[in-house]
Amino acid sequence: MDKIMDKIIVKDLEVYAFHGVLAEEKKLGQKFVVSLEAALDLYKAAENDSLEATVNYAGLCEDAEEFLQNNTFDLIEAAAHHLAIYILAKHTLLEKIRIYIKKPSAPIRKTFRYVAVEVERSWTKAYIGLGSNMGDKRKNIEDAISILGSENSTKVTAVSEMYVTKPLGYIQQEDFVNGAVEIRTLLPPYQLLDFLHSIETQLKRERTIHWGPRTIDLDILFYGDLLISDEKLVVPHLRMHERLFVIKPMCDIAPYITHPLLGKRMLELKAELEKTQALL
Ligand code: ATP
Ligand code: CA
Ligand code: CA
Repeated sequence: MDKIMDKIIVKDLEVYAFHGVLAEEKKLGQKFVVSLEAALDLYKAAENDSLEATVNYAGLCEDAEEFLQNNTFDLIEAAAHHLAIYILAKHTLLEKIRIYIKKPSAPIRKTFRYVAVEVERSWTKAYIGLGSNMGDKRKNIEDAISILGSENSTKVTAVSEMYVTKPLGYIQQEDFVNGAVEIRTLLPPYQLLDFLHSIETQLKRERTIHWGPRTIDLDILFYGDLLISDEKLVVPHLRMHERLFVIKPMCDIAPYITHPLLGKRMLELKAELEKTQALL
């Protein structure tokens, strides 16, 4: 069941800024009216009457104003999206934010109160499996982890031990180093996959032999409780439960989470695999 979410709400904050497709809009500027609903757990703040356990609404207003004045977008869609990411990344207590931007003076020759967009963005907890068996394997994995956490849209929240493992499948290749990380991400699943592919490319992965040697392999193991099955993406990862080199590091960072299709916890899967598999 989803947690009940408390909210902090700012309604109709007026910001003079320079967003728009037309050159005049960028030069002269106009009024934008911003509303936001930030979702977080306010139980502690309320119980203890403590400002530290919440996010100050004055601060949210300043963030929104500053961000919209220091950046210029053609579209209010883009302004709302980037503002959402900026605020979520800055205030770690927030789980979710909904941003509503109205443009009452949009340059349209019609009579209207305003045009507006609304976006909602939220953090999802996901798990990524990492493997390398070429070059400086541990460094490749460290580099991948640091690139993963380098953008506002993804934070690395836990890192497993790294394990030396024997290759499976195509076995005439070097040993692997394998690990897993927990992340919080604002990227939807396919965007997360694209991000992982871009990290693989940055770290010089070349796709030659299937299951063959690679500088880095990054797989989505879990994405929240989501189930996805199509050509491009299968989540939870199709083969993770057959692989001790995935399940063992998962047990370091999330031993009690349950595989949604198998109904088994990581610790149980590990105990089963250890009957027939060893890492080395
Ligand atoms: P395996 O999937 O058995 O671990 P691999 O990681 O060596 O094999 P790749 O060549 O890295 O396979 O990936 C092939 C394709 O698998 C990717 O281009 C991607 O579209 C697809 N894919 C499907 N599900 C996932 C997932 N959960 N994580 C990453 N890639 C996935
Ligand atoms: Ca893989
Ligand atoms: Ca892969």
